[in-house]
Amino acid sequence: MVIVLQILFVLALIIVIILFVFRISRTKLTTQLPENYEGLLADYVKFYRHLDKDGKEKFEKRVAHFLSAVKITGVNAIVEDIDRLLIASGAIIPVYAIPDWQYINLHEVLLYPGAFNMDFDQAGSDRDIGGMVGTGALQNVMIITKWQLRQGFINSNDAHNTAIHEFVHLIDKMDGTLDGVPEIILERKYTEQWRNLMNSTIMQMKTYGSDIDMYGATNTVEFFAVISEYFFEQPDLLKARHPDLYEMLVLIFKTGR
Ligand SMILES: [Zn+2]
Repeated sequence: MVIVLQILFVLALIIVIILFVFRISRTKLTTQLPENYEGLLADYVKFYRHLDKDGKEKFEKRVAHFLSAVKITGVNAIVEDIDRLLIASGAIIPVYAIPDWQYINLHEVLLYPGAFNMDFDQAGSDRDIGGMVGTGALQNVMIITKWQLRQGFINSNDAHNTAIHEFVHLIDKMDGTLDGVPEIILERKYTEQWRNLMNSTIMQMKTYGSDIDMYGATNTVEFFAVISEYFFEQPDLLKARHPDLYEMLVLIFKTGR
């Protein structure tokens, strides 16, 4: 009789352990998202607001997946739920139409409170950098400031979004060269056309000025990041004013209106 009770006890214990482990693994993905994620995304992320019900669900899943794969660390800044959601949104928006995309070249995002300079000095006088894709010792790391991150999403009527800008640099970098040509997602037959269009637009910008942020005229790397911000923030305006650029970006990001 005692043996039977002992066996029953052990069996019950095993069942409890199995249920516990199952529960943990099941809740792991959903706990990557804060409780009120739907409200926060709807309030801050225009791209998400414009998606239908299925599209929103797909977006949420990809945001959760991103947050489970990439660590977000505050450097003299507290990482709040909204910051985590906005960083993940900036990551997902450019690759939303590209299935199974993974940022294999990103392990960690460092969140700084305000702008920093090239020496990562938060108190320097030339604090004009709002985001950066790490190189050298900071390989696989992205730095973004809380201020720029939030401004990019709050002001949805301009063509600026620092998070999108930095993630586009990562996409560009994925093929091994940071050159403004994202060969990993752009078909080979279009790469020359894209390079020529970037160079001719930069020349025009330098000569006549432009409604495109002049920072884009720095080089093709910055041009690609800047024009991608414009594409995702103001697609209708870009289509009307720069149809040739718009068409190429549709080919690159596999999306458009
Ligand atoms: Zn840049």
